[in-house]
Amino acid sequence: MALTKEAFKARVYEWAQKLDIEVKTISIRPMKNKWASYTKKSQLLIFNTELLTMSKKIGDYVIVHELLHFNVPNHGKLWKSLMLAYLGDYEKIEKKIKMRCGRE
Ligand SMILES: [Zn+2]
Repeated sequence: MALTKEAFKARVYEWAQKLDIEVKTISIRPMKNKWASYTKKSQLLIFNTELLTMSKKIGDYVIVHELLHFNVPNHGKLWKSLMLAYLGDYEKIEKKIKMRCGRE
């Protein structure tokens, strides 16, 4: 069953709190070839509507992926070790959904 936008947003805020990241606006809307994107300046996060119908694991992956970019603007060593710390074996999910984000 699909999540509501509100439920998804609540999860984003939960993660943001956990990661100590300030998010002002979350928008969920159809996106053509990305799962999510963010604008640091306005603390805006956009998520693809499709994520509402996907598993919690995938949702969490995309949420944490984007949130970490607030502090780490690339997919380097630091970003990878943070992903591992928060999500465990995230690379499996990464392969599955072929994440594309605003920072690639
Ligand atoms: Zn990324």
